[in-house]
Amino acid sequence: MIRPDIIDLLRVKPGKKFRLKDCNPGWKQTDEFEELGKDALKEKAKAILDANLADLAQAQDLLYADDRHAVLVVFQAMDAAGKDGTIKHVMSGVNPQGCQVYSFKKPSAEELDHTFLWRYQRCLPERGRIGIFNRSYYEDVLVVKVHPELIGRQLPRKKETFGKAFWKKRYEDINAFERHLVRNGTVVLKFFLNVSKDEQKRRFLERLDRPEKNWKFSPSDLAERGYWDDYMAAYEDAIGATSTPEAPWHVVPADHKWVTRAVVADVVTTAIRGLDLRVPELTDDERKRLDAARAALNAEE
Ligand code: ATP
Ligand code: MG
Repeated sequence: MIRPDIIDLLRVKPGKKFRLKDCNPGWKQTDEFEELGKDALKEKAKAILDANLADLAQAQDLLYADDRHAVLVVFQAMDAAGKDGTIKHVMSGVNPQGCQVYSFKKPSAEELDHTFLWRYQRCLPERGRIGIFNRSYYEDVLVVKVHPELIGRQLPRKKETFGKAFWKKRYEDINAFERHLVRNGTVVLKFFLNVSKDEQKRRFLERLDRPEKNWKFSPSDLAERGYWDDYMAAYEDAIGATSTPEAPWHVVPADHKWVTRAVVADVVTTAIRGLDLRVPELTDDERKRLDAARAALNAEE
């Protein structure tokens, strides 16, 4: 396990002014880490990831058996921050039956005909499952804030402007939505994979230079990179306004994949283990039925 005080550094404190520039996307999160050095820290992170993957598989089995809670894991990030790879690695040990992954792209005409939370509401994890949102309703206060024209007809007819008040209402809607989920047994874990602009450039160039990675590059990725500062401002506002005690944000350093994966696996595993999960207990009647079944099987030739 990663020490709770380290995870605490990455958790956004509700009600406090949040500044993205205070968050380090690299590995030198503390003086202690710096002293330890990159290679030693990487070894440690890999060992923690391995241990957590085994624990997560067990925790998920229990979540499924207990069947009272669901876990919603939200990933938000700029392109090439490593959402896909993190999901692939962190979930590599879990039972696919207990896990649902949804990737949200540009909304369809049908989706735009509903309120902005509708399409996400339909994909929420069932009790006993881990649901992963690869992008989420936060896009509606991120990409949509950077490009307000995307909002289409989701705006009431009366001319509303995209001022502060508009986005504040959306943050409130999101907080209310998440509070509803948490009150009804869903654990909500939110991760912003914090990649630096330099590292994004390096990863884009790698996608362009290596033929087997070309398919991962889309020209629109470069166009969105042009709005980097607007995105950072939108992330800062959204994360600050929606990191609540019941559903806090974690700003995960994403310039090194081994850091990202170790942190995400640790937070997810610790959260599930912190639930009061039990294998369902049998009633006396059910136990009698099992005894009868055992007796019947033993009596077979
Ligand atoms: P990858 O590039 O790794 O395949 P991705 O998540 O970037 O994964 P893309 O198909 O490249 O997937 O991009 C999805 C696009 O859909 C993103 O640009 C995202 O901002 C956009 N999108 C997601 N939700 C919304 C929304 N509610 N409104 C408008 N655009 C959205
Ligand atoms: Mg993309």
